[in-house]
Amino acid sequence: MEVKSGVAYTGVVGVLRGGRPGKVIALRADMDALPVTEQLNLPFASKVRTSYNGQEVGVMHACGHDNHVAILMGVAEILAGMKEQLPGTVKFIFQPAEEGPPSGEEGGAELMIKQGAFENPKPDAVFGLHVMGIAGNVGQLTYRSGGTMASADLLRITIKGKQTHGAIPWGGVDPIVVASQIVLGLQTIASRQLDITRAPSVITIGSIHGGVRNNIIPDEVQMEGTVRTFSPEVQDEMHRRIRLTAESIAQSAGATATVQITRQLPITFNNPTLTEQMLPTLQRVAGAANVSVQPPVTGAEDFSFFAQKAPGLFIFLGSNKTGVDATTAPVNHSPLYEVDEGVLPLGVRALANLALDYLSQK
Ligand SMILES: [Zn+2]
Ligand SMILES: [Zn+2]
Repeated sequence: MEVKSGVAYTGVVGVLRGGRPGKVIALRADMDALPVTEQLNLPFASKVRTSYNGQEVGVMHACGHDNHVAILMGVAEILAGMKEQLPGTVKFIFQPAEEGPPSGEEGGAELMIKQGAFENPKPDAVFGLHVMGIAGNVGQLTYRSGGTMASADLLRITIKGKQTHGAIPWGGVDPIVVASQIVLGLQTIASRQLDITRAPSVITIGSIHGGVRNNIIPDEVQMEGTVRTFSPEVQDEMHRRIRLTAESIAQSAGATATVQITRQLPITFNNPTLTEQMLPTLQRVAGAANVSVQPPVTGAEDFSFFAQKAPGLFIFLGSNKTGVDATTAPVNHSPLYEVDEGVLPLGVRALANLALDYLSQK
């Protein structure tokens, strides 16, 4: 295999050229951990500590990406062993920083693409998977056609009022009251304005900052939030209505609202034709009874950048131990998230067979 390391800092790309001509398939595994202090009592539980955003934290594979690396290494070993019979080329993409690069830096799938990971040769399709508590128990596999994981947009709103005494609000413009109205107004976009039967959406305001003292109405309030959607049309409409809502409410009070929306991650879109084409493979490797349709996942994935470059299919492996209730088990990113390692052979079978079946199809 031709191996290139140091792609997007610590990423690795392997190219396995088969002995027979054919298409090019990319398989992607993300490999980063999270600033979470592991609370599992496992012999191999992480003891690593580091500092993150100025805080002393543990380092844990709380999203299960270590499983993805192990699975893709297994697939690489199997496919390398049958290199001569392989009809086409398999590209193995080990990607850092899926959870996002350090602030102010580039990284992840976007940077790997920028540094040529999707060129020479250019993949005709890309597959990826994620171990996931909400996808069920070990042995179960879920998939979804079309919008599968949400887009994630960073929302920043700055409300400018006019500072005054807390006892004399008419002497200024209170940005805290305006901010409160905007928070509530934004919630009516998803619940009252958009057609919820087309695609779900979420707006969350996660931080509000304004003021320093109980009896001073401040000049300014800053809010941050996240916006999640499953269709590009809804995403654009959502952005338009967020601006309209925030700016109009502010204007009605004599304040101003400056709205900044940054597109962080695109919708993870599973190509419907590719999904339909590969479904029999998933049913064969997991058993048809263990394969089901995944409800939309409001989390986001930077696999979406690869799936914008080639038709993509991203599947989920149930990761809870047999008998554990998936609706109450600790989820990905929890310090108690635990993966049943029975997902490893299923993951290897799934990715290896997706690659082989895709390359073998006419
Ligand atoms: Zn994660
Ligand atoms: Zn993840």
